[in-house]
Amino acid sequence: MISVPEEIPLDAYGRRIDYLRISLTDACNLRCVYCMPKDMQFLPERDKLQMADYRRLLPLFGRLGFKKFRFTGGEPTLHPGLLELVSLCAELPGDPLCALTTNAIRLPELARPLARAGLRRINVSLDSLDPQRFERMARGPSLAQAWEGVLAAEAAGLEVKLNAVMVRNFNEDDLLPLARLSQRYPWQIRFLEMMPFAEQTEFQHTRGIKNRSVQERLEAEFGALEPVGDRLDGEARVMRIPGAPGSLGFISPVTDPFCASCNRMRLTADGKLRLCLLKEDEVNLWQALRSGAGDDDLLELLKEGIRRKPWGHELANNRFAQNRAMNQIGG
Ligand code: SAM
Ligand code: SF4
Repeated sequence: MISVPEEIPLDAYGRRIDYLRISLTDACNLRCVYCMPKDMQFLPERDKLQMADYRRLLPLFGRLGFKKFRFTGGEPTLHPGLLELVSLCAELPGDPLCALTTNAIRLPELARPLARAGLRRINVSLDSLDPQRFERMARGPSLAQAWEGVLAAEAAGLEVKLNAVMVRNFNEDDLLPLARLSQRYPWQIRFLEMMPFAEQTEFQHTRGIKNRSVQERLEAEFGALEPVGDRLDGEARVMRIPGAPGSLGFISPVTDPFCASCNRMRLTADGKLRLCLLKEDEVNLWQALRSGAGDDDLLELLKEGIRRKPWGHELANNRFAQNRAMNQIGG
């Protein structure tokens, strides 16, 4: 059957929403201090979307003009259907960009199959290059494997970006070594400001480091950073150490929000369309899927989600979402 493209709706603020981040699971093989509590309980399998649900939903997002899909989690490489899901996305009309955010632990065996399935870009969370600090932050001992995973991703031809959340009294000593990676590799090393979520807020409020002071420390070491491009790359302001083949990205949702240019929505593992990372508003696709909704009903729900997308977060007023931790939304 030929699928007819839909008229593509804008949200209430005139933004084109065409980027879906799909949290395949809330489960993870690490327990990063800024992401989830140590004793986090994960969803039972029966409460998660099944492959048949994704086979129905992904083409509907394709019909609404979504051009970019990112698999995330929890840890998306733990999902047994990941390769099939990447293929499904890559085969949607319009040659969409398929990307993955991962802790890289499973990449040594998965990088090549993922690239073959159509994955183009990979963001690896790597907060420390020191085994002990890595273990303290991730509550898991896998730096060597994660590093091997990053190299495997590059060898497989994937575009690599690294994400680091800077946390006071945890990984401040990693700032310069992480930035120096951009002098050696053609990667973007991104510094993410820590955001507050349910249950973790005390930690996140007291340990966060503003990107302004990250940049000041980098410039004290490397001299003035050069801007790369005059627009945000996704959510990152991109700079370069003079002469470096790679770049540095500053993602500053707390001190320099990028809500005005937000083009994304999120699909959670339990079937909710999350309209803003930092707000509780969701559309319940799970209920519709389980009560026999047809494709037209589902399309209407997706359009409703686009129309209802909030303007942006209110961290500046100390308001943040209380209903999910980061691993349950997908970053
Ligand atoms: N497990 C994968 C990983 O770590 O890359 C994907 C899921 S993780 C939730 C996605 C991203 O969210 C990671 O880059 C992680 O560093 C980031 N993250 C988690 N908690 C955060 C927080 N409180 N503030 C800012 N970023 C956070
Ligand atoms: Fe797992 Fe990623 Fe959260 Fe770390 S940031 S606990 S790797 S989901």
